[in-house]
Amino acid sequence: MYSVRMRASLDNKHISGAERVVEEKDIKNTAHSLIERALTHEKGKPDFINISAEEIKTPIKSLTSLPITLLHVENADKGKTTAEKLLAHIGIPTFCIERAFSFLEDGACNGEGMRGAIIMDMQGRRLESDKKREVRASRMDITAEASGELAAALVAEGLSSNYLHIKEALVLATKVASVKGTVAELCWSDDPGYVAGYVASKKFGYMRISCLKNEGDRGGRVFFVNDIGEDYINEIEKTPVIVNKFAGIIDITGGQK
Ligand code: AMP
Repeated sequence: MYSVRMRASLDNKHISGAERVVEEKDIKNTAHSLIERALTHEKGKPDFINISAEEIKTPIKSLTSLPITLLHVENADKGKTTAEKLLAHIGIPTFCIERAFSFLEDGACNGEGMRGAIIMDMQGRRLESDKKREVRASRMDITAEASGELAAALVAEGLSSNYLHIKEALVLATKVASVKGTVAELCWSDDPGYVAGYVASKKFGYMRISCLKNEGDRGGRVFFVNDIGEDYINEIEKTPVIVNKFAGIIDITGGQK
């Protein structure tokens, strides 16, 4: 299997990134579709596109996805209050939650947008070694069967147009939640028109909040951690993971689908 990754930027500012884990025969098609994606991104045309394909030489971990819960909110303020409550319920201290929100709203490094995730411990400290790059979770994908089940479930929920966003975020959140030391994750997208986000944790699964920002706002990610070992960041970045089972969707307003 190969890890195929794409990263696109303009004037050294991150525009988009994506990744797949595929068989050798699928490298060409995958690279083609990732380049297409980089060239047609909502945030603009990049002046730099990097595509890499690297053989995976370590065992690939198989994981069942986090279960998805859908939470519908009327606007970003209500979404943020919901996310704060969920994070508090998971056990994240209030000052860490406030700090995380201000990084996502104002930028993580001198007001610049984020290209990866902040790792924050329970004292509110940032643990990434390079604060400008943050940490990018990598080497992860989902099987055709599991993604087909996810796609069908999203059709039933009227969310099929959000399939790609939800699929990629669910795979990332599933991998991150599986790494020892992760307590929770907070994310909302950097794509100007995509206002949904989520709070993910092993405890409560992937809680999708329909609105966490206003159109045009920047996005970002924070991984809240406790007691992580030396290998935490390496595992987030390097351990290959395939999600091979989809755990289902519950609509909190409408019962299990
Ligand atoms: P996106 O939903 O792709 O717009 O991602 C939202 C934010 O999450 C981005 O602005 C990045 O800060 C962060 N992010 C995106 N991809 C990754 C990744 N693979 N690992 C860690 N953080 C990421």
